[in-house]
Amino acid sequence: MFYADYHTHSSFSSDSSTPIEENIITAINIGLKEIAVTDHIDFDYPDPEFPFLFDYEKYACEISRLKEKYNGQIVIRTGVEIGIQPHVYGLIEELACRNYYDFIIGSTHCVDKFDLCTDEFFKGKSKHEAYAGYFKDVLNNVKNTDFFNVYGHIDFINRYGGFKDRTMDYGEFSFITDEILKTLIEKGKGIEINTSGFRYGLGHCHPQAELVKRYRELGGEIITVGSDAHVPKDIAADFDKAYHVLRKCGFKYITIFENRKPSFIKI
Ligand SMILES: [Zn+2]
Ligand SMILES: [Zn+2]
Repeated sequence: MFYADYHTHSSFSSDSSTPIEENIITAINIGLKEIAVTDHIDFDYPDPEFPFLFDYEKYACEISRLKEKYNGQIVIRTGVEIGIQPHVYGLIEELACRNYYDFIIGSTHCVDKFDLCTDEFFKGKSKHEAYAGYFKDVLNNVKNTDFFNVYGHIDFINRYGGFKDRTMDYGEFSFITDEILKTLIEKGKGIEINTSGFRYGLGHCHPQAELVKRYRELGGEIITVGSDAHVPKDIAADFDKAYHVLRKCGFKYITIFENRKPSFIKI
């Protein structure tokens, strides 16, 4: 099976202490063909303890050292996961133009300047209001930015929020999610299957299968698979489940990227 983990974090991310090399060694040991290093850049992240910024020169230098060291054993891609907020669109586009990346994930981690890991955004909102507010923000980002290759964990709003029942009735939000997916497809952008939802006890990947299926029905073709690992043991976690979802939804290929250009690999 061709496995390529296209969402991994290392000590270049404020929320991980794993050297990139440890992830690479694990990926080789479990037989991955490719790994994309996608550390966090989140301009103006609300929590000062987690600045989510790194020195690109050091990052690129370490990745190219590892590319050379492990050449022939695994393909390593230089990636990044950029947190999108409307007031930093300019900074993001400038960063994406200035630096070389094989692959860029655009993700929503903050809405209305609130970090979604905390309660702030959810205070005083019903589940419907919170989830709809999140998707409206994603739609706005998808319409107004172009720098990313795939949108990260596109329905991850139900990872947090403190609601007793975090399940999302997909139909309740399809009036917004359909527009998000159509816009992504028109712009030639993909989505990722992010397997961290299983580790967060949600029983599904991000996005849940209904959204993956809908992306396919609407003509979407670009799908990467990522674990969102912050420690080596999570590299390629639950990829068998992700591939099962992909096949069930009609996908025959996954996507890999070099210099931001997609190629398709049969699954
Ligand atoms: Zn993320
Ligand atoms: Zn991530």
